[in-house]
Amino acid sequence: MEPNLPLVFDGHNDTLLNLHLRDRGEGRSFFERSAVGHIDLPRAREGAFGGGFFACYAPNPEDDGWNEESALNATEDGYVVSDAPRLDPEYARSVADKLVEGLFRLQSQGSLRVVRSIDELEGCLREGVIAAILHFEGAENLGPDPGALGDLYQTGLRSLGFVWSRPNAYAYGVPFRFPASPDTGPGLTGAGKDLVRECNRLGVLVDLSHINERGFWDVAELSEAPLVATHSNAHSLCPASRNLTDRQLDAIRDSDGMVGVNFAVGFLREDGGESEDTPLETVVRHVDYLLERVGIDRVGFGSDFDGAKVPKGIGDVSGLPRLLAALRAAGYDEEALEKLAHGNWIRVLRATWRK
Ligand SMILES: [Zn+2]
Repeated sequence: MEPNLPLVFDGHNDTLLNLHLRDRGEGRSFFERSAVGHIDLPRAREGAFGGGFFACYAPNPEDDGWNEESALNATEDGYVVSDAPRLDPEYARSVADKLVEGLFRLQSQGSLRVVRSIDELEGCLREGVIAAILHFEGAENLGPDPGALGDLYQTGLRSLGFVWSRPNAYAYGVPFRFPASPDTGPGLTGAGKDLVRECNRLGVLVDLSHINERGFWDVAELSEAPLVATHSNAHSLCPASRNLTDRQLDAIRDSDGMVGVNFAVGFLREDGGESEDTPLETVVRHVDYLLERVGIDRVGFGSDFDGAKVPKGIGDVSGLPRLLAALRAAGYDEEALEKLAHGNWIRVLRATWRK
């Protein structure tokens, strides 16, 4: 590893689901080095991974007939993924509960801690303990009663994406399409608006990655917290429906929020393609662009490790130093690298959480 590279605190990973599902993680252990997936403890240490948002995401169950591979249809210049059906909240909650349990089990060896406050997060970074934020990707994971948010807050939930790329009782997720606008449907429902207020009251971060554009603007109007997209890129450079338009980026800047740069090749590449032969410079280009648009204090990483194909040059979490080295080579100084690597996440979480 290069000397003097800052610890990376990251906006999004799907490691919990990868560990949980045998067909994804092949039964690997977080504590042993694996060639499967992107994050485990030995590789995290090698990559100076300080921690991040650990997503609890419930995939569509087999019996609803939808899966990411079969739903994908090529078009002349890209793709359209057919709309994912909404989940039964009881099912979603049962999956989320297993993933939450899985996250807390990762604390058993003392090398990872679930953090509930800025003090705890900073303590972990100081001590070299991986700091994990409990994040729900999809508010259907709360179960049928949105009042469960309060209990989950007590458990440790500190970040909530209202939707994955499908609809639920609160909002409409943006279906995966390329090239396409994120303006794909209606905004927040009444329950969604109530949920914004409740997240503000508790100090739970509202994650705007995956929400469609009208939902984004509804949150922008209602929320008192900085606007945050934990794992999304610049639509101007890669016109995937999952990326952020310049207008959305301006709103993020004006709210003093932030964007986590997603390493998923399909959200990085100009052609929206899925090739891992995507140069590191493509990531650097998104960082450059976002930074120009929203400012040096409002960009970080949101890797999507264990949930997406990433550029070969990164490979997995152990490749983070190569990305930082590429950014340094592109002219980012120590102060800028520190902000990108973790400083900005700490800033925005401090402004969002109650403690
Ligand atoms: Zn995601």
